[in-house]
Amino acid sequence: MIAATKVKIKGYITVKDGFQEAVADMMALFEIPEMETLDDSLPSLAICIRNQVEGSQLPSIHTVLEYVDENQERQEYERHSLPAEPEELTTTAIRRLLRLNIFQLLHHLTGYTPGPWGIMRGVRPAKLVHRLLDEGMDTSGIISHLHEHYAVSHEKATLITDIALRQRNFLLEAKDKQRVSVYIGIPYCLSKCYYCSFSSALLPSVHSEIDKFLQALEKDINSAADTITKCGLDVDSLYIGGGTPTSLPEQDFAALLSLVKKKLATTHTREFTVEAGRPDSTNETKILAMCQAGVTRVSVNPQSMQEKTLKRIGRNHNVRDIISMFQKIRDIGIPVINMDIIVGLPGETITDLEDTLKQISVLCPDNLTVHTLALKRGSLLMENHEGLSQDQKLLASKMLVTAERYASQMGMVPYYLYRQKNMAGNLENVGYALPGKECLYNIQIIDERQTIIGIGPASATKAIVPGKHKLSSFYNPKDIRTYIDHLPTHLQRREALIAKWFNN
Ligand code: SF4
Repeated sequence: MIAATKVKIKGYITVKDGFQEAVADMMALFEIPEMETLDDSLPSLAICIRNQVEGSQLPSIHTVLEYVDENQERQEYERHSLPAEPEELTTTAIRRLLRLNIFQLLHHLTGYTPGPWGIMRGVRPAKLVHRLLDEGMDTSGIISHLHEHYAVSHEKATLITDIALRQRNFLLEAKDKQRVSVYIGIPYCLSKCYYCSFSSALLPSVHSEIDKFLQALEKDINSAADTITKCGLDVDSLYIGGGTPTSLPEQDFAALLSLVKKKLATTHTREFTVEAGRPDSTNETKILAMCQAGVTRVSVNPQSMQEKTLKRIGRNHNVRDIISMFQKIRDIGIPVINMDIIVGLPGETITDLEDTLKQISVLCPDNLTVHTLALKRGSLLMENHEGLSQDQKLLASKMLVTAERYASQMGMVPYYLYRQKNMAGNLENVGYALPGKECLYNIQIIDERQTIIGIGPASATKAIVPGKHKLSSFYNPKDIRTYIDHLPTHLQRREALIAKWFNN
């Protein structure tokens, strides 16, 4: 075991040994860039990591880290992992132990802890907890397991375990195989928010362009409805997301909702969500259309209730517009309203966030989704940004705690959690809900325990047999033109995937 020397590292040299992907991932976690060398020597302040698998039944990993310090002296550190767990697949175990070794070595060498999730890099940490619960592990065993095997902090291990336990009542069993959810993606927005890296396009100014898209989408919806009927499926929840679905012109939006209701909703459909996103995309006519189509949940996504922040992130509306939109949706009687906020937005302080949360508390939403800013390539913010400082990452972490406190004061509990790449401080996004107001679709999409049929550009179809941990997926293209031009091929492939899974 190495001593905690707290060195500076300029970069790392790749060794071509078959483990590069895991090494590169851990280096990215510690923000250590890859370096090029002209010869085999290790440059000053650079490290090189070698790994070797030892044993075969329950393999372990021996990791050696070489480092050349500023006095040009070569240091060598090593770590032997514990053996793989008996129930682990060998490849999964090797990947995990390798990452854990590198994580621990880099942590000791640099003194840096890159966020509370340890080596867990996946989008869906609750999936692992569900697997452990399925295997009969108890709560304290799971929390210790996440800490020891994945270096997850005690606090996050407890949070994700609590969330998974709360989700157990919503998970389907093998007998519920025919109950599916449907996602419909509308790829347009009225303007681009500066932090956004989604593949959304600006709503075309020429209506014939919108028509072409909607004609393709109608075929997509009809084809999905036929597949659902042929395979004897039942739609549990519907979700129209994007982009911003409400950015469509009034008549188109109303026609889309009634088509979805007619073709996809059944008497068993328990939830119908529309992301109304920003107030500049929504008006009373569109709110009425949602109500008439039987929408049960609307998402209003201010991200912040600070005027200065709304300007800074490129929103063309003010706080008054958000409040007015919220109240109109509430007044018309749509049962569940979600509000989305982002912590870590540029220039925001804890005081700003507290003020945002106080304003939201007055509105009494049923759900609150707290995102951590993720700076991704493709966002305007990233283009003008060097990345986040340590102070900003720490601030994002404190902000998540503040948001949790306010959600709890509003009577909400955390019910789903997911992670993305490049999140400030390697943190997470958490969905809170009043008990009984949880979004079914959000739980199913994150836990991957229910088949989801994707309609529209960039949507994913995932066929799943509950209880069997088997998944087969198909993705529609992100590019709108490609989606329209190749639609028949995508429809055939989706139908084949669903038919293969459900016609047996
Ligand atoms: S409204 Fe949503 S999808 Fe559209 S640009 Fe803003 S963040 Fe991105």
